[in-house]
Amino acid sequence: MKKILVANRGEIAMRVMKTAKRMGINTVAIFSSVDRNAPHVKFADEAIHIGGNPSNESYLLGERIIEEAKKLKVDAIHPGYGFLSENAQFADAVKKNDMIFIGPDSVSISMMGDKLAAKDAVKNYDIPMVPGIDKAIKDKTEAHDLALKIGYPVLIKAAAGGGGKGMRVVNEAKNLNAQLERAISEALSAFGDGSVFIEKYISSPRHIEFQILADNYGKVLHLFERECSIQRRHQKVVEEAPSSILTADLRERMGDAAIKVAKSCNYTGAGTVEFLVDDALNYYFLEMNTRLQVEHPVTEYITGLDLVEQQINIARGEPLLLEQTDLKINGHALELRVYAEDVFHDFLPNVGQMKTYKIPQGNNIRVDDGYEQGMEIPIFYDPLISKLITYGKSRTEAIQKMVEAIDQYLIVGVNTTLPFGKFVCQHQAFQNGLFDTHFVQKYFNGDQLKADTEEEAKVAAILALKLYFEDQVLLRTPN
Ligand code: ADP
Repeated sequence: MKKILVANRGEIAMRVMKTAKRMGINTVAIFSSVDRNAPHVKFADEAIHIGGNPSNESYLLGERIIEEAKKLKVDAIHPGYGFLSENAQFADAVKKNDMIFIGPDSVSISMMGDKLAAKDAVKNYDIPMVPGIDKAIKDKTEAHDLALKIGYPVLIKAAAGGGGKGMRVVNEAKNLNAQLERAISEALSAFGDGSVFIEKYISSPRHIEFQILADNYGKVLHLFERECSIQRRHQKVVEEAPSSILTADLRERMGDAAIKVAKSCNYTGAGTVEFLVDDALNYYFLEMNTRLQVEHPVTEYITGLDLVEQQINIARGEPLLLEQTDLKINGHALELRVYAEDVFHDFLPNVGQMKTYKIPQGNNIRVDDGYEQGMEIPIFYDPLISKLITYGKSRTEAIQKMVEAIDQYLIVGVNTTLPFGKFVCQHQAFQNGLFDTHFVQKYFNGDQLKADTEEEAKVAAILALKLYFEDQVLLRTPN
């Protein structure tokens, strides 16, 4: 493998290319018009303008990307996450055009890409699943009967779902019809597939997922868990590894279950098996993501492995040399997704120009980003600016490091999730490890944080003024 095309943008394109370069592999970037001057374009050995700004005119144009890759004699395509990363047709087309798709086989992608097909695949492996049905709902009468059988509250989900879309909680029967209609129309517009199903709504769950690595020779390992319960709109914002609630025994059982899920679809490469864990520590299989996960760096910190390097090695047919017993958890890592969002107003996207952009530096601080000072965060894509990752020997140390790093991170021009990250790190429930996926609803108040932040800024300004006057007095005081 001498040349890799990265079919993505932003931080993940940079992330993949950095490892490729380190491994002596040449890199090709693709870009839309608005990304012409983006860091991933400058960093790559070669770059191709793929089309207009909307992703369906650029980063989603599988055929065109393959055509360009062939012209440049590319050996392999890395899809990153999002865009074409879970598109089975694309994975197949890459292969048919004699290139390597850095990811699993298209059959595994199709099976796990559909939540119902995934439930069906793992059925024979004795994996606990959220109580519910494993078939798409046909009509309202069926939905009512099922919801009653499962017991309210229930959750309506899109079979093709992703990114928390097409999901509706229903607390009582009288709301079922309306929510069903909404979920179907949301699923249709987001995924072009209106199939929905119903499962039990677990009332205070934690989202805990396992990182998997599988080679082409039947070896499957797990690289422990990531705790991803701090979410807004069913989407993760803060992640950590390891989870503070897993015992060694539970970790082993969940790790084994994750390996079985990977085996159920003949998985190869790096993947993630997601579970919900309830307050009695029962775990339920949620879904498998057949790609590199946004939050993979926390696993890299605690295992010392480079997951992109592992993906590349597996894709070029190398066997995994590690054994499960070689793998140990070392220390604790935390990740904050730094989104261009207004945390004071319901986490709404807040795109625009970053007039000032200074990243924190120091030991045990890692920033994976894809922007530079002066750049615009475009409206066309996910508003993720960067990922801020910190590491410590203990959880407390990693949290302290995160607060330090957030204080050093300077972004002016757009609102970001940085103040939210600090709020989380300083919250007692988080520090004590006592939280679930409802942390934001339970504890977070944008108006309150705004008032506190403004108060903090005022105090800082007064202190600066006081220091200034003291300096003036000192300067003027004769010896
Ligand atoms: P998506 O593929 O859209 O990300 P997931 O199935 O991975 O959807 O779920 C995303 C999040 O939604 C979970 O992390 C959790 O917070 C919530 N969720 C999903 N299923 C349930 C459930 N049955 N009960 C409670 N919360 C759930």
